[in-house]
Amino acid sequence: MTHPLLAELAAQLPASALVTDPEKLAPRLVDERRKLHGSTLAMALPGSTEEAALIVQRCVAHGVPIVPQAGNTGLVGGATPMGDKVLLMACDRLNQVRQVDAEGYTMTVEAGCTLDEIRATAAEANRLFPLWLGSSTSARVGGLIGTNAGGLQVLRYGNMRDLVLGVEAVLADGHIYRGLHNLRKRNVGYDIAQLMIGAEGTLGFITAASLRLLPSEQGRATAMVALPDAAAALGLFTHAKAEVGEVLTAFEYIGKAALEVMTAQHGEVPQPFTPLPNCAVLIALSGSQPDNILEDRLTQLLMTASCEDAVLAQDGSQTEALWALRELIPSAQRRAGPSIKQDLALPIGAIPAFIEEAAQLVAARLPEATPVVFGHMGDGNLHYNLGLAQDADVANCEAISNEVLFDLVAKYGGDISAEHGIGRFRVAAADDRHDPVARALMRKIKASLDPQGLFNPGVLI
Ligand SMILES: Cc1cc2nc3c(=O)[nH]c(=O)nc-3n(C[C@H](O)[C@H](O)[C@H](O)COP(=O)(O)OP(=O)(O)OC[C@H]3O[C@@H](n4cnc5c(N)ncnc54)[C@H](O)[C@@H]3O)c2cc1C
Repeated sequence: MTHPLLAELAAQLPASALVTDPEKLAPRLVDERRKLHGSTLAMALPGSTEEAALIVQRCVAHGVPIVPQAGNTGLVGGATPMGDKVLLMACDRLNQVRQVDAEGYTMTVEAGCTLDEIRATAAEANRLFPLWLGSSTSARVGGLIGTNAGGLQVLRYGNMRDLVLGVEAVLADGHIYRGLHNLRKRNVGYDIAQLMIGAEGTLGFITAASLRLLPSEQGRATAMVALPDAAAALGLFTHAKAEVGEVLTAFEYIGKAALEVMTAQHGEVPQPFTPLPNCAVLIALSGSQPDNILEDRLTQLLMTASCEDAVLAQDGSQTEALWALRELIPSAQRRAGPSIKQDLALPIGAIPAFIEEAAQLVAARLPEATPVVFGHMGDGNLHYNLGLAQDADVANCEAISNEVLFDLVAKYGGDISAEHGIGRFRVAAADDRHDPVARALMRKIKASLDPQGLFNPGVLI
């Protein structure tokens, strides 16, 4: 028998706003990492804020939990509905750019716009929306805000938290919070938008956001540098901050095992160095100066640094090829076999010592695992992944990896996630390792805004 909620929604919404066809639902019920295989009552697709409010109000009336989903590219299982009494609420039809204010350097976009779409819209107005991630074709505003996404240019421009001015959202009581604004300065008490950013869909359904824009970049220079070890990479970073800090846009670390797995699995991407170095750094400068000036500055920087070797991209296709070496590492690992993903936050200065100590501990506790280490070194964010054998007991290896690496990040003053969030996969670790007062405060905020616990149960807290 049809759930009464579905009958009500079908009567009050257009046909395109409700999906129950199992074939259409199937891709929405599996997470990006293929770890969760969920189920749902149906998928609701509001086409306006008012439709979103109506859906939430009917869910409140029937006590039906809601799982918000945007591009479904999140890496911690936060957007997968886990039960046929849960409604999946997706953003696809909320896909309008409501306003671009080029003079005021802001834009207002709906939650279903993809990152590529908003970057392209900003570019048409000769402005830059600087967030940039490997999933930019699919990740949508709702999810970028829900996860407080980071990515490849946080070093220069910050993460989503730094780029959102205001949000519009449907709260767990069905009311619409109309918090969109184009004000760079606004100091009026609790910042509700900041509360919703990184809330992973647990406090409401975001329908739109006002975002900060920046001046378009006029030029870019990109190089890959071969280095003997992570300590040399840290030295180069310190040098780059001092010499070209105001135009330093990306500083990505790639360890040797990551270069090796790329060579094995993505041989079509040229490797600039033979033999492979112990590690490489991808460094990008960008800004209001033209390419040639930035290229000169980057060349100067590399000449005064102690690099083993370096290649400077000569054109757009070489720039893309260098970035592919970094961006395709997760894909190469997936092709290579089972693996464990980590998203560790560390003080930048601790990264070399952490990498060295982690290698020893992993060798002792998981001798068959290969640390595949890469990440946003300039932000203190390491993806300390482990490649496993085909027949490995992944769950057991993951438990050991978490114990070893989470203890070690704590020792160095770091944390268990830098950008992916907590989701479903790290709730137990957060409960075990985070300050109990902070966890209790989060639960109090959740209980006050969502007393029925309808939004994304089991995620984050
Ligand atoms: C190839 C690849 C590269 C990636 N690189 C990066 C990277 O460099 N940096 C990084 O930070 N992440 C990265 N990610 C992870 C992922 O792309 C980001 O977390 C992204 O922000 C998720 O956006 P999404 O639209 O797919 O959200 P989803 O996966 O659909 O949802 C993510 C979370 O947001 C919540 N949510 C979704 N929509 C709403 C809404 N409307 N209102 C409230 N909550 C909502 C969900 O419930 C869920 O908890 C990468 C992923 C892939 C596959």
